[in-house]
Amino acid sequence: MSKRCTKCKSYYLVDAFYKDSHTKDGLKTWCINCIKVKNALSYIKHSDNIYEYHKNRRGSDDIYRLSHDLRSRIEYTISNYDAPDISRFTGINNEGLRSRIESRMNIHMTKENKGLIWNISFRKPLASAKTVDELYSLLHYKNIITKLKVERGLLEAIPFPEL
Ligand SMILES: [Zn+2]
Repeated sequence: MSKRCTKCKSYYLVDAFYKDSHTKDGLKTWCINCIKVKNALSYIKHSDNIYEYHKNRRGSDDIYRLSHDLRSRIEYTISNYDAPDISRFTGINNEGLRSRIESRMNIHMTKENKGLIWNISFRKPLASAKTVDELYSLLHYKNIITKLKVERGLLEAIPFPEL
């Protein structure tokens, strides 16, 4: 038996919904993943620890600062069609990079909730770079992926079966 989530409009097996004694069918109208996304969103919105951490670390570590700036540059390129070409870093033109990211977004990842519940990420983390050359090599498009944020266990990606 399947049921449609009123939030993401997808059909899932009934075990993808929490129970709710107040509704007609005894189940919540939103799927578990949508509820977790909403909860994580409100948690992250009200948390300023992450920002403080970055601000403090930026002042003390040059490679960290550069990696942060390069990451912002890549994020800017992904959301702005008029961004300057950065293929010398990524090994792919901007349009190619954007369509690669789009192909890696699932139904819970939208342009509006980017940065809040998901973001671009790096297979091999930029933080692992010890030198500037090493850092540049990690900007290659094959190292760039999309990732749901898992903040203190509040949000986990549940692979629901699509019906
Ligand atoms: Zn849903």
